[in-house]
Amino acid sequence: MSLMSSHRRVGVIPRASGAAAVAVKARASAWDVPLTETPGVISLFVWGCELRLTAESDSARVELLAPEPRLIGNLQDSASELFAEAGLEVAWDHVDEGALAPGLSLMTVARVTCPTPGFLRVRLRGPEAERFSRDSLHFRLLLPPSGRAPIWPRIGANGRTLWPSGEDALHRPVYTVAAQGQDWLDFDIFRHDGSPTCAWAETVSPGAEVAIIGPGGGWCPSGPALTLFGDQTALPAIARILQLAPDMVAGPVRAFIDADAADLGALSGDPRVAIRRDLLTALRDVQLPQGGFVWFAGRAADARAARKHLVERGIAKRDFLAAAYWD
Ligand SMILES: Cc1cc2nc3c(=O)[nH]c(=O)nc-3n(C[C@H](O)[C@H](O)[C@H](O)COP(=O)(O)OP(=O)(O)OC[C@H]3O[C@@H](n4cnc5c(N)ncnc54)[C@H](O)[C@@H]3O)c2cc1C
Repeated sequence: MSLMSSHRRVGVIPRASGAAAVAVKARASAWDVPLTETPGVISLFVWGCELRLTAESDSARVELLAPEPRLIGNLQDSASELFAEAGLEVAWDHVDEGALAPGLSLMTVARVTCPTPGFLRVRLRGPEAERFSRDSLHFRLLLPPSGRAPIWPRIGANGRTLWPSGEDALHRPVYTVAAQGQDWLDFDIFRHDGSPTCAWAETVSPGAEVAIIGPGGGWCPSGPALTLFGDQTALPAIARILQLAPDMVAGPVRAFIDADAADLGALSGDPRVAIRRDLLTALRDVQLPQGGFVWFAGRAADARAARKHLVERGIAKRDFLAAAYWD
């Protein structure tokens, strides 16, 4: 497997490698990611990075290889955690102790608007906004409990990210980048009852500090055809994917959205888009182009039903995504 791995970190586990090897194999299976094994060396591949475990006489050497510093930090966090779960501690050659969690950017609220009846649009400003537009559509918004000063997650001495807990625990919902400039990004929040994020957006003042972490999640699936199904929470992701699709998808692209027509915004009148209030029925009814990709996102129970249906229909796992956007 060839990787662009310009960043490297090395650690030593001062114990024979058996337990470490078992832990790496278990993690590859839990994450469903590739693993290679040659005598004395195991490599796990994830996020375009490699975690390589080499057996030495009475210790194990851990090497992390990644294309960018954020991913080295993420991998160091995950590796420290997976070995700690197996009772093993890694002595790393370098830990950015005290630094903000890998991938965390502090941003400032620029404004909140109401582009359509069902959505709030938040514009965040910050020098790192641009990196949230590459390869991944989503990020996590980190909101401190109302009335408390934020305690942002930072890297601990052992390489693991220390997340605030108890009264300082952060709310961490996932959102989609809707639009972006060099130092700003917009995201759209579907308004619903009982939502801490809506409550925050309805009351936050311009200039307030907030953190986002990422980016993460998928991108526009490439291939001969694409069929999308999603509810209101997936509407921003579908809109973004439909923007990217002309460069990524060779053939037909269609989107079935469970949302009010008034909330379609820029998608109103797009011939690729249809409103369907029952997505699971739409999924069953629609003829899916041979070899195309099927993308489904919505309520967890619907995503589970969609996955079951697609498997029963004989669609290969690599040809669909059925994602839970909310519970
Ligand atoms: C990859 C990904 C991308 C996403 N992108 C977006 C996006 O761009 N815009 C967006 O609005 N959402 C998006 N979501 C969904 C969003 O993360 C969830 O709706 C999340 O629950 C919102 O957090 P919250 O603060 O509202 O409340 P939570 O504390 O998570 O939930 C509070 C209450 O609201 C309920 N709830 C959550 N969502 C809904 C809903 N849609 N309708 C009715 N009740 C609900 C929950 O069941 C709970 O009772 C995305 C999710 C994922 C996984």
